[in-house]
Amino acid sequence: MACKNCNTLAQKRQLSSTGEVTRFLRRLRTFVEDGRIVEFPSFTDLADVEDDASWPDVIECSFGCPDCGQEFSFKANSHKSKPPQWLPTKTTHHRR
Ligand SMILES: [Zn+2]
Repeated sequence: MACKNCNTLAQKRQLSSTGEVTRFLRRLRTFVEDGRIVEFPSFTDLADVEDDASWPDVIECSFGCPDCGQEFSFKANSHKSKPPQWLPTKTTHHRR
């Protein structure tokens, strides 16, 4: 369940253009800097994904909402025809 903090990120979305991905990654960085989401150690560090579209072929970043524990992934694979996508993932840390 998304909370007020991560509401704007709780929608699954596909990023069909390079510009869209760039803008989205910038937004993600801002969110991480502001502490709205935390980055989890994953296949890719967000810091390794440059702004100039010279991205690694395979990107997989994980994030979580510090307020409600909702987790999110950003995935891209240039070897596949699927566009990069952002999606809420299953919560592994349950809170009561
Ligand atoms: Zn949340």
